[in-house]
Amino acid sequence: MRNKIFVTRIIPDAGLKLLREQFDVDVWQEFLPPNREALLSRVQGAVGLLSLLSDRIDTEVMDAAGPQLRGIANFAVGFNNIDVAAAIARGIAVGNTPDVLTDATADTAVGLVIAAVRHFQSSILQVRNLQWKTWEPIGQLGHDLNGKTLGIVGMGRIGAAVARKLVGGWGMKVVYTSRSPKPEIDKEFSATRVSLEQLLSQSDVISLHTDLNEQTKHMISHREFAIMKPNAVIVNTARGGVVDQDALYSALKSKVIFAAGLDVTDPEPLPADSPLRELDNCTILPHIGSATFEARDRMAVMAAQNLIAASTGKSIPFPVR
Ligand code: NAP
Repeated sequence: MRNKIFVTRIIPDAGLKLLREQFDVDVWQEFLPPNREALLSRVQGAVGLLSLLSDRIDTEVMDAAGPQLRGIANFAVGFNNIDVAAAIARGIAVGNTPDVLTDATADTAVGLVIAAVRHFQSSILQVRNLQWKTWEPIGQLGHDLNGKTLGIVGMGRIGAAVARKLVGGWGMKVVYTSRSPKPEIDKEFSATRVSLEQLLSQSDVISLHTDLNEQTKHMISHREFAIMKPNAVIVNTARGGVVDQDALYSALKSKVIFAAGLDVTDPEPLPADSPLRELDNCTILPHIGSATFEARDRMAVMAAQNLIAASTGKSIPFPVR
């Protein structure tokens, strides 16, 4: 009998094909993620679990799976949905899919920067709602990007890719934060590593790229918005929890900052009564950062490779770090 893998959603065939060559693969077929009860029931007996960022993978899930569980492969680079310490303590390998979605996600961030700085959200609605009456000499004015300052919060893979695009395309100057110094980044972009306060007060465009961890939860709140420039735009393609959404709403509503572009919110999806949905100066996407055919195929292959290695007790090629 072949070992069982549980896959919590339909992922691209590129990954499923690899898994089906070796395992008995149980794929959750619904459009929405499995609820808790279904997750706990379907994971039983699996040697490998292929999870999504919408699945909370904690000790209860590991217990429900059983002692034969060898690997958890997240179909994402972020892994804040998994209790990694508990998994490692039980000898369960945990993998993710870094690098292959970096450019796709960075492109989404750049798109949101332009949408935010040039009023795309309200302009699209103007056309759709038949409110486009004439060419306006002083209406819908945004800001140039050329030569302005870009603040990257969390200069990792995606942060650096965003900097590369905005420096190469728009000649932006770069300041950034990270936990460790990045001499190669300083050299590549003539960039300066600064404190978060310095970054927020100097930047015209602020782009968030940290993982969600204890230090970054609500890292951007009332105090942080208050020190931003009035023309500042903030873009979040990291995780919704990095931003205090009530503080964001106040800052946008009272024009403390110019605009925001969000690919991620807290919670997801954004509730129907969230006031952020009503703001003209807030562009919101439904977490499509890595949603390209190419990136998702590569992510599926990496997740499958992680489970193939984990199931035979080998070190996995893409462990979370
Ligand atoms: P990464 O290379 O690990 O980059 C994360 C960066 O955050 C690192 O440079 C790290 O600094 C920095 N950081 C962490 N905590 C910090 C703190 N307290 N203060 C300042 N900097 C901090 O990860 P990545 O591949 O770029 O991905 C980043 C995040 O993007 C993921 O964790 C995920 O949540 C999100 N993401 C979203 C989408 C989407 O669809 N919207 C797609 C992919 C990823 P050090 O380098 O000094 O450790």
